[in-house]
Amino acid sequence: MTKIQMTTPLVEIDGDEMTRIIWSKIKEHLISPYVDLKTEYYDLGLEHRDQTDDKVTFDAAEAIKKYGVGVKCATITPNAARIKEYNLKEMWKSPNGTIRAILDGTVFRKPIIVENIKPYVRSWEKPITIARHAYGDIYKAVEAKVTDGDVAELVVTSKDGEVISKETIHNFKGDGIVMGMHNTKKSIESFARACFNYALGEKEDLWFSSKDTISKKYDHTFKDIFEEIYENEYKSKFKETGIEYFYTLIDDAVARVVKSNGGFIWACKNYDGDVMSDLVATAFGSLAMMTSVLVSPDGYYEYEAAHGTVQRHYYKHLKGEETSTNSVATIFAWSGALKKRGELDSNSDLVKFGEVMEKATIATIEEGIMTKDLAMIAQGDAKSVSTEEFLLEVKTRLEKLIA
Ligand code: NAP
Ligand code: MG
Repeated sequence: MTKIQMTTPLVEIDGDEMTRIIWSKIKEHLISPYVDLKTEYYDLGLEHRDQTDDKVTFDAAEAIKKYGVGVKCATITPNAARIKEYNLKEMWKSPNGTIRAILDGTVFRKPIIVENIKPYVRSWEKPITIARHAYGDIYKAVEAKVTDGDVAELVVTSKDGEVISKETIHNFKGDGIVMGMHNTKKSIESFARACFNYALGEKEDLWFSSKDTISKKYDHTFKDIFEEIYENEYKSKFKETGIEYFYTLIDDAVARVVKSNGGFIWACKNYDGDVMSDLVATAFGSLAMMTSVLVSPDGYYEYEAAHGTVQRHYYKHLKGEETSTNSVATIFAWSGALKKRGELDSNSDLVKFGEVMEKATIATIEEGIMTKDLAMIAQGDAKSVSTEEFLLEVKTRLEKLIA
């Protein structure tokens, strides 16, 4: 068999622990035998990030800007325990945070659906993708504890020092708390465009929700910016594609989501997206079946699994014990990246190969062969296999589909 050729390299971003093990196995068993894989490789394993003073993370993000598509393995975000474990020079920042800041992207999380793992919500037949605005609001807020008799005010000062507005937040009778948060027009606009572009790519309706009836300036601005960008830049493209943009209040959205059949993208403000993505992932069955893609307003893509490095399994692996770690989300990160690379390069063989990887993976699970985490929640026959056995089972089906 001749291997599928690639014209443009994919930015390959390696990572840590159990997902690093899975990463090389996926390449070995499912990709390299069939694709003449061209990648520009960045090792974001924690040791190498430390050796390069984290420069490698910045270089990886710049490479995505150069080539347009990246695929990333899960990485450790260091904390105090990791500094000791790896004898780090510094508590390096979250690589995902660094890459997101450079690409100015929005994260879309989409569950992988298989027949024998039923969502907890009976009506959900198709995936629900959460798009989370990953800037500002309570994540960049300032807070204070206040005491009886204190007055909290919201003061806005112009760049020449002139007070533009001053409003009393509250005259405290008794102790209390206060918080100030912000967002920027630029960030909200990027978020909106990333959502509209992603919806067009997926050919799925886009919902956006906030609490504009209560928050007449803050949340209402989000609503207005989405509306304006939609009307001016996307309305006709949505019509042509046969999809809809739809705004509703967050509480109405929650009710509609639960009653829906799925098959749409739900754009959420930062906090809503944080909470709802965990709710939706769990309700669909498992975090290990959730893919994640970072989409920048300039049209750069970075694919990854939504879960972490699965540390507990890695330590079992190091002790020589057999693991049963779910590789599905990481396989889909690769297939998603290969499909996008193929689409951008008009390389239909590569697109088809990505689709076949996904079909083979889903078929394996639907035929009752899966890792332990899924076997515990699957309906019907479920044989639990090891990390590597699962990949070999996928490979068997992949070869049949190719033939
Ligand atoms: P985690 O790696 O997602 O794992 C938490 C637990 O969820 C695991 O112990 C395992 O449960 C289960 N799980 C997650 N993925 C699984 C899979 N593919 N197959 C089977 N079970 C799976 O989260 P964590 O333990 O909180 O974080 C570990 C490291 O990952 C941290 O250093 C963190 O910084 C990093 N992290 C990275 C990313 C990223 O790069 N995108 C995201 C999140 C966390 P059982 O142990 O019960 O089997
Ligand atoms: Mg969360």
